Amino acid sequence: MLFGKLQGSVREGVPLAPYTWLQLGGPAKYFAEPSDVEQLQEIVRIANREGLSIRVLGGGSNILVRDKGFDGLVLHLSAPWFEKISIQGTSVQCGGGTRLAHLINACVGAGLGGLEHLVGIPGTVGGALHSNSSTDEGDIGSLMSQATLLTRKGEQVTVSAKDANFSHRRSSLDELLILDAAFELHSGDVRQLTKREQTFWIVKRSKQPNYPARSALAFVDLDGVSAVELLHRSGVNGMIEGNVQLNSTYPNYITANTGASADHVIKLLERAKEIVFKKTGFSLQPQLVVW
Ligand SMILES: Cc1cc2nc3c(=O)[nH]c(=O)nc-3n(C[C@H](O)[C@H](O)[C@H](O)COP(=O)(O)OP(=O)(O)OC[C@H]3O[C@@H](n4cnc5c(N)ncnc54)[C@H](O)[C@@H]3O)c2cc1C
Repeated sequence: MLFGKLQGSVREGVPLAPYTWLQLGGPAKYFAEPSDVEQLQEIVRIANREGLSIRVLGGGSNILVRDKGFDGLVLHLSAPWFEKISIQGTSVQCGGGTRLAHLINACVGAGLGGLEHLVGIPGTVGGALHSNSSTDEGDIGSLMSQATLLTRKGEQVTVSAKDANFSHRRSSLDELLILDAAFELHSGDVRQLTKREQTFWIVKRSKQPNYPARSALAFVDLDGVSAVELLHRSGVNGMIEGNVQLNSTYPNYITANTGASADHVIKLLERAKEIVFKKTGFSLQPQLVVW
């Protein structure tokens, strides 16, 4: 057995579809849910020794798994060790596997403001930092003070916000994974922060398909021009490929219907991108990370 005594934490042939928002795609050859960082490091060392490709799964809200699955190791930071939140004064530290929603609620409940505009963005803190999740009010990267990463060799390194090079929906946090992160927030009144969070939540919900709709964001906004506007100008809203559709009620979301495949999603995104380019001259980039 490849993972020896760790086999309780590493399963084989695990379907990935249930772990992603689109609920599409095939299985992972190996799927690991380590209980703590030592076990995680051991798993990474073995995977490296065996030459396995490694991917990190957060909340799966921004991942499309190909129909054939992933022929390597998927790491899932689902154990409580990776979801700890600690608050000291206006500084907050949390594990990379922490749900963004849990972090926001904990901060608001402790009278700490700054993150509440991100409410309603699905997924984990690790996923949000990796792609520098944002709203019109700002991005998560601007509040991060430092992060601990696990390198591809399985070593821990600390990086500052400056090293992370945050830009629109991007970071250079491209080491193997984000183990934990620290944020510097500001003190506020719990009741006012809660109200602010609720208001953002209501607005966000009105703009996106409700869970458990099998939906994901299609394209990243370009500098100065929104993907929604380009899709609208190109007349591609509502476009269908197989059993996948560019949602016309919630522009820039794709929705997978019964019988959908990952291949349908890939083809739909390619076709939409091509039409947008022909009609507007802008080259949209998919938001989804394809495995
Ligand atoms: C309904 C809906 C609404 C959305 N609204 C917004 C929005 O308003 N703003 C916005 O910016 N995005 C939005 N998104 C996109 C998505 O939710 C974010 O990108 C989210 O932060 C992804 O987090 P995740 O944990 O689900 O990551 P996943 O989808 O699991 O992974 C995404 C990428 O992050 C990497 N990753 C995950 N965890 C880690 C980790 N611990 N360390 C290193 N890398 C990691 C993965 O390897 C992958 O490359 C939305 C998506 C949906 C479906």
